[in-house]
Amino acid sequence: MRWFLGIFVCISCVYARHEQYDQSALFSVKAKDAEQINYFNSLDYPMDIWLYATQERNGLVLVPKGYVQQFQDELYSKGIEFVIEVENIKDSLELEDKLRADKARSRAMRSDNDLLVNFDDIYNLTEVNNYLKKIAEAYPDVATLVSGGKSFEGRDINYLKISNSNFQNASKPIIFVESLLHAREWVTLPTTLYAIEKLVVNVTDQDLIDDFDWIIMPVANPDGYEFSHDGGRFWRKNRRNGILPGDVCLGVDLNRNFDVFYGLGSSNNVCTEIYHGTAPFSEPESQVIRDILHSDDRIEMFLDLHSFGNLILYGWGTGELPENAFSLHVGGIQMATAINEVKEDWNLNYRVGNAALVLYPASGTAMDYGLKAGVPLSYTYELPGLRNFGSTILGFLVDPEFIKPSAVQTWEGIKEGAYFLRSIRRNLA
Ligand SMILES: [Zn+2]
Repeated sequence: MRWFLGIFVCISCVYARHEQYDQSALFSVKAKDAEQINYFNSLDYPMDIWLYATQERNGLVLVPKGYVQQFQDELYSKGIEFVIEVENIKDSLELEDKLRADKARSRAMRSDNDLLVNFDDIYNLTEVNNYLKKIAEAYPDVATLVSGGKSFEGRDINYLKISNSNFQNASKPIIFVESLLHAREWVTLPTTLYAIEKLVVNVTDQDLIDDFDWIIMPVANPDGYEFSHDGGRFWRKNRRNGILPGDVCLGVDLNRNFDVFYGLGSSNNVCTEIYHGTAPFSEPESQVIRDILHSDDRIEMFLDLHSFGNLILYGWGTGELPENAFSLHVGGIQMATAINEVKEDWNLNYRVGNAALVLYPASGTAMDYGLKAGVPLSYTYELPGLRNFGSTILGFLVDPEFIKPSAVQTWEGIKEGAYFLRSIRRNLA
């Protein structure tokens, strides 16, 4: 009886953690003109915009309990079409837990090579850090584990330097790939782990390691990421506290905290998801990325992986085009084409363009700072956020069946990016 009670208690504690999202509804909104787009994209706290609305694409917003009716009434009054995609997002969170738990059970039956990633679940922070350490220990000639600094809560922000010439070959360009600057964008993590696997453990494209050095940072926002596992699954920002009395709201959007067009397309309200912090580079996590970008002028490509939207974006976030916009666009198209060629038929094609023109103006982003710091090919990836058959919106939730395909497909884009970089360098030589 005690055993039975134990199981019961454990199940309730797993599910209790999503209580904060109980009866939050996910709305898909069709904005038909600039005025409606602007209305939607300027929604303020407590609405959580998951996907900005454009002429071509519906916006998605998570509306918390207590605001659902009010929001519907407002959309009706403005004549804006909408569909409630998910009535209670807590049901989706419980489904994600269940699918992950089923996979974990099947994994426990197998004996795996622990230098290979199990692409049937999303590793937590401890698992990621253990994996990076194991790789560095097993392949000391190629992979070096570095802590770039500490997060706000004191966690190491780890990355691997991957090189078969100990980062000493001045003629090689460096490619810097980073994921999970936004905590809830879990599906981006398997891609950086897969990149490590393909560059260190299971190398099938030797030229990628002969011709390039790599910096791979799987968890750019460790505090937020940890919190997204045990605090709130849809947490986006870091965990900076002490901004408001009693911490009624906390956290800085790290991808608005970089010193580039700071404050133009972000918020000074700490309660919003796009709060830019008290000053440019107020946050240790954005400082770490800044310092890497300035650490070596051989860094010629920077890929900041986000989800979701099937997009490859480049600067500037204001909508102005940088001098090398043509190169950025061609490189983006090549990467997108490589992914589109291997993706499932049901998944949307990647689109490429200037971030502000394709998506929405945003300032203080890592991508723009990469460009400002002198990295010519600086991009944001927005990975897909759909479940099978393209009709079901997954958003930030992860379907375990899609983890491996997502990692493999995105890697095709990154590889193509490396080849594009090599081709333009040869043309310049
Ligand atoms: Zn993001």
